Amino acid sequence: MENVNAHPAVWSRESGTVEKRDVWTALKRGLRGRCPRCGKGKLFRAFLKVDDHCSVCQLDFTPHRADDLPAYLVIVIVGHIVVPTILWIETDYSPSVPLQLSIYLPLTLILALVLLQPVKGAVVGVQWALRMHGFDEQNPTE
Ligand SMILES: [Zn+2]
Repeated sequence: MENVNAHPAVWSRESGTVEKRDVWTALKRGLRGRCPRCGKGKLFRAFLKVDDHCSVCQLDFTPHRADDLPAYLVIVIVGHIVVPTILWIETDYSPSVPLQLSIYLPLTLILALVLLQPVKGAVVGVQWALRMHGFDEQNPTE
């Protein structure tokens, strides 16, 4: 009788020595401004300045390439909140234009400022979890 292995070895990145990175966990840690790997160290050293490395687990943050993506995402999110609100209030109540502008412009500015850092943290977390750019220690040239 032939001896056949019922469970052939599958060689994948997960079966090797590389660490497993959960995208959703890294995204949530980034949203809170924490290191995507340990969730304890701070991700930012200033409002939108990503720190060089994690103060707890020493993860190097410099390979991140968030660039303009957080700003684009914030524009999309804030636009989907503010524009329907403006349309709803205009069609149902039609208040004066100066009153509307005195509410919508500060609201837009505040929402954008509040969302920028969490969204940037989430982008950096996802880039780390997906091993994008220099976050892949197996292929440091990318
Ligand atoms: Zn860390």
